[in-house]
Amino acid sequence: MSLVTVNPANESTEMVIDRHTPEEVEQRIAQTAQAALELRDTTFAQRAAWMHAAADFLEQQAEELGNLITIEMGKPIHQSVAEVHKSANAMRFYADHAEEFLAGEQLEDPSKVNASSAWTFYEPLGVVLAVMPWNYPIWQVVRFAAPALMAGNAGLLKHASNVPQAALFLDTLFEHGGFPAGAFRALLIGGGDVAQVIADPRVKAVTLTGSEPAGRSVASIAGDHIKKSVLELGGSDPFIVMPSTDVQAAASTAVLARTNNNGQSCIAGKRFIVHADIYDEFTAAFAEHMANLKVGDPLDPETQIGPLATRDGRDDLAELVDDAVHKGAEVLTGGYIPKGAGYFYAPTVLAGLTEDMRLVQEEAFGPVATVYKVDSAEEALEIANQTDFGLSSAVWTTNIEEQEWFLRNVEAGAVFINGMTVSYQELPFGGIKNSGYGRELAAEGIREFCNLKTVWRA
Ligand code: NAP
Repeated sequence: MSLVTVNPANESTEMVIDRHTPEEVEQRIAQTAQAALELRDTTFAQRAAWMHAAADFLEQQAEELGNLITIEMGKPIHQSVAEVHKSANAMRFYADHAEEFLAGEQLEDPSKVNASSAWTFYEPLGVVLAVMPWNYPIWQVVRFAAPALMAGNAGLLKHASNVPQAALFLDTLFEHGGFPAGAFRALLIGGGDVAQVIADPRVKAVTLTGSEPAGRSVASIAGDHIKKSVLELGGSDPFIVMPSTDVQAAASTAVLARTNNNGQSCIAGKRFIVHADIYDEFTAAFAEHMANLKVGDPLDPETQIGPLATRDGRDDLAELVDDAVHKGAEVLTGGYIPKGAGYFYAPTVLAGLTEDMRLVQEEAFGPVATVYKVDSAEEALEIANQTDFGLSSAVWTTNIEEQEWFLRNVEAGAVFINGMTVSYQELPFGGIKNSGYGRELAAEGIREFCNLKTVWRA
């Protein structure tokens, strides 16, 4: 079986790469386990120097790698290049802050525990497996790998099957900075081969970013082996717009929130919940902006929406829209597959959603927005919380009491007030409910794959 890069903009096969044989997988796990032992004994300063050098190397490749990302999964070229820079920044951030994040604490009054001193510190777990998606093929991996390596762990990557070239680039990225060769290794394997890697006694923990079914499977295997897991799964984030806000600003931001990465972002605003007083103004502006987006070749710098990453992804999205339309949803714009080659889908806004429509519960992974008209904050919250997801959320209101009420009651890992959700290396990132558990980024992210060791001295 091979892994294939298919350019989603024109459906051409760009590259075919053999999967690793069981012997190659074994050799890579062994090499990574050896590197984990070596990394435990390196200093933060040493690892930081390697990480900075790897970040410099990454940024030198920004244009070329950006091109590769766009050809492999279809995001507009300026977003691909920005993803590379963002990844390099996160590498530098963890190089500069890992030691402080992992310092642990001294107990102020050790006599309370009958000790002369007592303290905690974080130590690495060893080899951590990362199962990753294609939608941010460099960023998703780096935001796991940079903190993991800076903590002194080693990483194994099982990347999505449709981005093998990104996987191969990442396979050597950290080595370019000076890390031991096995400190980070890609395994070119399928989802079905992941179970035996998790079960391997040399692998101490697993993180998965991807869909709910994949998360359930990986977490249950990790549970069977009593290994730590972190899950970053899907989302159907609410974007709530209340009357006090700047409606035009909310509508413009809503377009960015829904269509970034061709609409294939876990933290995209997907359900737009709008107060009746401003509903007509908001939906008119939102639908007009969505209709005017430039859809086309993602390598063209003018393009705002490229193709979806795979044919299956595009067809699943079309099915969700067709289901809603068939059951009576109103199409404000879009709602169709454009003619011609490539896995494109027209930017779409649907209104008049009813509970029997799949789109009410399921994640739309593409440029499809649903709008809901509500009469009160309470009704907005009820719709916001009615899915099984709980990744992030956005609330637009200038009323401070209303802000406070929403931020306490919305069921999500984050609330962005008068803005759209963006991942920042300085802020913890992750969800609740079926969006997963654990956190990435910030101090919390680097601590996920560490043992917090308690020391008591008589
Ligand atoms: P996916 O199908 O779950 O794939 C993600 C990764 O899991 C791929 O490497 C895939 O390998 C692997 N995989 C799939 N089924 C598996 C199984 N049963 N056991 C082990 N590994 C398995 O998800 P996707 O379609 O690539 O990505 C889209 C989803 O990811 C969306 O739901 C999106 O919201 C979510 N996402 C979440 C976050 C977050 O931070 N919360 C960020 C980005 C994306 P193969 O490619 O070989 O199948």
